[in-house]
Amino acid sequence: MTVVCAWCQRLGRAAVLGEKEPLDQAVITHGICDEHALVVLAEARRLEIPVRAVDSRAP
Ligand SMILES: [Zn+2]
Repeated sequence: MTVVCAWCQRLGRAAVLGEKEPLDQAVITHGICDEHALVVLAEARRLEIPVRAVDSRAP
């Protein structure tokens, strides 16, 4: 299963983040890259949306 960043994909950029189980299935699943995670976090903070679950990824 191929993992792609949904935000990069929407922008038409290379979006592959990696592979995850099951590796024998040619299926795409969506995730978020580090760059877009920071963008989404910054926007959530600006809008004062609680993001505790995602916040642990921030430096
Ligand atoms: Zn991205």
